[in-house]
Amino acid sequence: MTAARNRRRMARLAPPKEKGSETCMVSGCKEDAARSISADKLKKTLSGVSLKTDSRRIHICKTHYRQFRKKTKGERELERLGW
Ligand SMILES: [Zn+2]
Repeated sequence: MTAARNRRRMARLAPPKEKGSETCMVSGCKEDAARSISADKLKKTLSGVSLKTDSRRIHICKTHYRQFRKKTKGERELERLGW
């Protein structure tokens, strides 16, 4: 059988990262990714969010990015008030 061999070869030739349309890496979300941010930041900012990947850099959709931005902005403003 050569089919298995061919498949293995294909996998080897295929680039590890998929280019083109990525989807949001927040689990349960199927929207197209619009932004890439650090997974660490997202987890810290949007607590309760779980991700589909373990990578440090993740892609998220507009909706999640907006949520993320809102929260970070809020924090920054609070900090400014404290100064
Ligand atoms: Zn999303």
